[in-house]
Amino acid sequence: MATPRVLDVLAERGLKATFFVVGRQLEHYRTLAARAAQDGHWIGNHTMTHPRPLGLREAGAADEIEDAQALLGELSRPEKLFRPSGAGGDLEPGLLNHTAVGTLIGGGYTCVLWNAVPRDWEDQDGWVDRALEQIEERDWTLLVLHDVQDASAARLEEFLDRAGDVTFRQDFPPDCVPIRDRKLVGPIRGLLA
Ligand SMILES: [Zn+2]
Repeated sequence: MATPRVLDVLAERGLKATFFVVGRQLEHYRTLAARAAQDGHWIGNHTMTHPRPLGLREAGAADEIEDAQALLGELSRPEKLFRPSGAGGDLEPGLLNHTAVGTLIGGGYTCVLWNAVPRDWEDQDGWVDRALEQIEERDWTLLVLHDVQDASAARLEEFLDRAGDVTFRQDFPPDCVPIRDRKLVGPIRGLLA
Protein backbone atom coordinates (compact mmCIF):
# COMPACT_ATOMS: atom_id res chain seq x y z
CA MET A 1 0.00 0.00 0.00
CA ALA A 2 1.77 3.09 -1.28
CA THR A 3 -0.60 5.85 -0.17
CA PRO A 4 0.33 6.03 3.55
CA ARG A 5 3.99 6.43 2.61
CA VAL A 6 3.17 9.13 0.08
CA LEU A 7 1.07 10.95 2.67
CA ASP A 8 3.90 10.68 5.23
CA VAL A 9 6.46 12.14 2.82
CA LEU A 10 4.18 15.03 1.85
CA ALA A 11 3.34 15.74 5.50
CA GLU A 12 7.01 15.78 6.53
CA ARG A 13 7.67 18.45 3.94
CA GLY A 14 4.47 20.41 4.40
CA LEU A 15 3.44 19.82 0.77
CA LYS A 16 -0.17 19.74 -0.37
CA ALA A 17 -1.38 17.88 -3.45
CA THR A 18 -4.62 16.75 -5.02
CA PHE A 19 -5.61 13.08 -4.96
CA PHE A 20 -7.93 12.09 -7.79
CA VAL A 21 -9.69 9.05 -6.41
CA VAL A 22 -11.40 6.20 -8.28
CA GLY A 23 -14.84 5.74 -6.72
CA ARG A 24 -14.62 1.96 -6.63
CA GLN A 25 -11.46 2.20 -4.53
CA LEU A 26 -13.21 4.45 -2.02
CA GLU A 27 -15.36 1.53 -0.99
CA HIS A 28 -12.23 -0.05 0.52
CA TYR A 29 -10.02 2.92 1.32
CA ARG A 30 -12.30 5.66 2.55
CA THR A 31 -10.30 6.07 5.76
CA LEU A 32 -7.18 6.75 3.74
CA ALA A 33 -8.94 9.35 1.58
CA ALA A 34 -10.26 10.97 4.75
CA ARG A 35 -6.74 11.13 6.14
CA ALA A 36 -5.53 12.79 2.93
CA ALA A 37 -8.29 15.39 3.18
CA GLN A 38 -7.52 15.95 6.84
CA ASP A 39 -3.85 16.49 5.97
CA GLY A 40 -4.95 19.35 3.72
CA HIS A 41 -4.85 17.61 0.35
CA TRP A 42 -7.67 18.16 -2.09
CA ILE A 43 -9.72 15.14 -3.06
CA GLY A 44 -11.01 14.91 -6.62
CA ASN A 45 -13.19 12.54 -8.62
CA HIS A 46 -11.41 10.18 -11.04
CA THR A 47 -14.52 8.29 -12.28
CA MET A 48 -16.23 5.33 -10.67
CA THR A 49 -14.43 2.44 -12.44
CA HIS A 50 -11.63 4.12 -14.43
CA PRO A 51 -12.72 3.29 -18.01
CA ARG A 52 -9.76 3.40 -20.40
CA PRO A 53 -10.58 6.00 -21.58
CA LEU A 54 -13.69 7.60 -20.06
CA GLY A 55 -15.02 8.87 -23.38
CA LEU A 56 -14.99 5.53 -25.14
CA ARG A 57 -18.75 5.03 -24.74
CA GLU A 58 -21.37 7.79 -24.54
CA ALA A 59 -23.60 5.56 -22.42
CA GLY A 60 -22.30 5.33 -18.91
CA ALA A 61 -20.12 8.43 -18.93
CA ALA A 62 -22.56 10.42 -16.80
CA ASP A 63 -22.84 7.63 -14.23
CA GLU A 64 -19.07 7.25 -14.09
CA ILE A 65 -18.85 10.89 -13.01
CA GLU A 66 -21.92 11.23 -10.82
CA ASP A 67 -21.74 7.89 -8.99
CA ALA A 68 -18.15 8.62 -7.95
CA GLN A 69 -19.14 12.12 -6.86
CA ALA A 70 -21.96 10.74 -4.72
CA LEU A 71 -19.52 8.34 -3.04
CA LEU A 72 -17.00 11.11 -2.41
CA GLY A 73 -19.64 13.08 -0.57
CA GLU A 74 -18.12 15.52 1.87
CA LEU A 75 -14.58 14.45 0.97
CA SER A 76 -15.01 16.40 -2.27
CA ARG A 77 -13.88 19.95 -2.70
CA PRO A 78 -16.80 22.37 -3.18
CA GLU A 79 -15.63 23.02 -6.75
CA LYS A 80 -16.01 19.29 -7.55
CA LEU A 81 -12.59 18.58 -9.05
CA PHE A 82 -12.76 15.92 -11.74
CA ARG A 83 -10.09 14.25 -13.83
CA PRO A 84 -11.13 11.95 -16.70
CA SER A 85 -9.55 8.50 -16.81
CA GLY A 86 -7.24 7.97 -19.77
CA ALA A 87 -5.95 5.05 -21.74
CA GLY A 88 -2.25 5.51 -21.04
CA GLY A 89 -1.37 8.98 -19.85
CA ASP A 90 -1.82 11.01 -23.03
CA LEU A 91 -4.21 13.89 -23.66
CA GLU A 92 -5.89 12.33 -26.67
CA PRO A 93 -9.24 11.75 -28.39
CA GLY A 94 -11.51 9.56 -26.28
CA LEU A 95 -10.58 11.09 -22.97
CA LEU A 96 -13.96 12.86 -23.00
CA ASN A 97 -17.18 12.64 -24.99
CA HIS A 98 -20.25 14.85 -25.36
CA THR A 99 -22.11 13.16 -22.53
CA ALA A 100 -19.18 13.61 -20.15
CA VAL A 101 -18.72 17.25 -21.12
CA GLY A 102 -22.44 17.95 -20.68
CA THR A 103 -22.39 16.29 -17.26
CA LEU A 104 -19.35 18.27 -16.16
CA ILE A 105 -20.71 21.61 -17.33
CA GLY A 106 -24.25 20.97 -16.09
CA GLY A 107 -23.07 19.62 -12.75
CA GLY A 108 -20.71 22.48 -12.01
CA TYR A 109 -17.57 20.34 -12.05
CA THR A 110 -14.01 21.59 -12.48
CA CYS A 111 -12.24 19.45 -15.07
CA VAL A 112 -8.53 19.19 -14.25
CA LEU A 113 -6.19 17.80 -16.91
CA TRP A 114 -2.38 17.79 -16.74
CA ASN A 115 0.75 18.77 -18.67
CA ALA A 116 3.35 16.32 -17.38
CA VAL A 117 3.18 12.54 -16.98
CA PRO A 118 6.57 11.02 -16.10
CA ARG A 119 5.06 7.53 -16.29
CA ASP A 120 5.89 6.41 -12.77
CA TRP A 121 3.67 3.34 -13.10
CA GLU A 122 5.81 1.98 -15.94
CA ASP A 123 9.22 2.89 -14.60
CA GLN A 124 9.51 3.38 -10.87
CA ASP A 125 13.16 4.47 -11.13
CA GLY A 126 13.35 6.46 -14.37
CA TRP A 127 10.33 8.64 -13.69
CA VAL A 128 12.39 10.89 -11.42
CA ASP A 129 14.72 12.08 -14.19
CA ARG A 130 11.78 12.52 -16.55
CA ALA A 131 9.77 14.50 -14.03
CA LEU A 132 12.72 16.81 -13.37
CA GLU A 133 13.13 17.38 -17.11
CA GLN A 134 9.42 18.05 -17.54
CA ILE A 135 9.45 20.62 -14.74
CA GLU A 136 12.25 22.46 -16.55
CA GLU A 137 10.22 22.66 -19.76
CA ARG A 138 7.54 25.12 -18.60
CA ASP A 139 6.78 27.76 -16.02
CA TRP A 140 3.98 25.87 -14.29
CA THR A 141 3.86 22.10 -14.39
CA LEU A 142 0.88 20.02 -13.39
CA LEU A 143 2.64 16.76 -12.63
CA VAL A 144 0.70 13.49 -12.46
CA LEU A 145 2.06 10.83 -10.10
CA HIS A 146 0.36 7.65 -8.94
CA ASP A 147 0.09 6.44 -5.35
CA VAL A 148 -0.29 2.85 -6.49
CA GLN A 149 2.00 -0.13 -6.01
CA ASP A 150 5.33 0.07 -7.88
CA ALA A 151 4.90 3.69 -8.96
CA SER A 152 6.10 6.93 -7.38
CA ALA A 153 6.32 6.12 -3.67
CA ALA A 154 9.79 4.57 -3.49
CA ARG A 155 11.52 7.57 -5.08
CA LEU A 156 9.24 10.41 -4.07
CA GLU A 157 11.69 11.74 -1.48
CA GLU A 158 14.57 11.58 -3.94
CA PHE A 159 12.48 13.49 -6.46
CA LEU A 160 11.61 16.20 -3.93
CA ASP A 161 15.25 16.48 -2.83
CA ARG A 162 16.48 16.81 -6.38
CA ALA A 163 13.73 19.30 -7.33
CA GLY A 164 15.67 21.71 -5.12
CA ASP A 165 14.17 25.18 -5.05
CA VAL A 166 11.15 24.37 -7.22
CA THR A 167 8.01 25.89 -5.67
CA PHE A 168 5.20 23.40 -5.13
CA ARG A 169 1.68 24.75 -5.10
CA GLN A 170 -1.70 23.13 -4.80
CA ASP A 171 -3.75 25.00 -7.40
CA PHE A 172 -3.72 24.33 -11.14
CA PRO A 173 -2.35 26.11 -14.21
CA PRO A 174 -5.40 27.63 -15.98
CA ASP A 175 -4.55 25.94 -19.28
CA CYS A 176 -5.03 22.55 -17.57
CA VAL A 177 -8.61 23.43 -16.54
CA PRO A 178 -10.90 23.51 -19.61
CA ILE A 179 -14.21 23.35 -17.70
CA ARG A 180 -15.18 25.30 -14.58
CA ASP A 181 -18.06 27.37 -13.19
CA ARG A 182 -20.50 25.64 -15.59
CA LYS A 183 -18.56 26.94 -18.60
CA LEU A 184 -16.19 25.64 -21.22
CA VAL A 185 -13.12 27.81 -20.74
CA GLY A 186 -10.48 25.90 -22.69
CA PRO A 187 -10.11 23.77 -25.81
CA ILE A 188 -11.38 20.19 -25.56
CA ARG A 189 -12.05 19.35 -29.19
CA GLY A 190 -8.94 17.19 -29.44
CA LEU A 191 -10.10 15.15 -26.45
CA LEU A 192 -13.53 14.12 -27.68
CA ALA A 193 -14.17 10.55 -28.79
ZN1 LIG B 1 -6.15 7.40 -13.99
